[in-house]
Amino acid sequence: MTSPRSPRIVIGGNWKMNTDRAGGLALAKSVGAAAATLPAHVDVAIFPPFPYLAAISEALCAAGSRVMLGAQDCYHAEKGAFTGEVSTLMLRDVGVQIVLAGHSERRHVLHEGDDLVNLKVRAILNHGLRCVLCVGEKLEQRVTGQTDTVNERQVRLGLRDVTPDQLDRLVIAYEPVWAIGTGKTATPADAQDAHHKIRRVLEDLFGKDAAARLPIQYGGSVTGANAAELLAQPDVNGALVGGASLKPDDFGAILSAAGAAKR
Ligand code: PEP
Repeated sequence: MTSPRSPRIVIGGNWKMNTDRAGGLALAKSVGAAAATLPAHVDVAIFPPFPYLAAISEALCAAGSRVMLGAQDCYHAEKGAFTGEVSTLMLRDVGVQIVLAGHSERRHVLHEGDDLVNLKVRAILNHGLRCVLCVGEKLEQRVTGQTDTVNERQVRLGLRDVTPDQLDRLVIAYEPVWAIGTGKTATPADAQDAHHKIRRVLEDLFGKDAAARLPIQYGGSVTGANAAELLAQPDVNGALVGGASLKPDDFGAILSAAGAAKR
């Protein structure tokens, strides 16, 4: 019997609705330089706004960068009368390799439910892209003891009909909503506890070995100052970073912490 491989470490920079074209290109260049020295088991992705994807894709390609180009969202249909939406085929066409689904701002600002998130997850994976499924509880759910139930529901519904052969392109991001953009971070022990329980759900869905290989990122006010202790937790296999990903030095420090983290 072979022992399960450790998950890869995946660090993502979610730029949200920030930067302009020139600033985005400069930021992508600095991430590329910081990523170049990292060990091979660390994956780095950036998620710029849609209008800048093509230009940043060209710049990353021209530089031979290992940084994956990501999109913050997509629509699940391939084409058609869906004004304002962007399909996974269009994203792939401009060089996108990885796409977020179910980010808390999509769920709670734009009111996306688990069924729509699942359609997006399947469209992303069915079109050969990597997918980051984001899950996490709101503050009122945490204080009323619902953290694990919410995470379990979002994982099970989000991954409905995902097949075992797609799992090597899947990443889960645990992002407690109350920690996103607030400067409040889950303690390393709380993050580990939530990640461990999410992995148990993944075991139930896909088996122990497959679940052991799936990266589970933590997201919620990760900075260069707290990344190392979060990444030291056994079930924390990376970070999805918002605010700090816009600051080259801070994101560089997070990448260094990922490079130094034990697997
Ligand atoms: C995010 O956008 O996924 C995020 C975690 O943001 P922040 O790091 O700013 O909390």
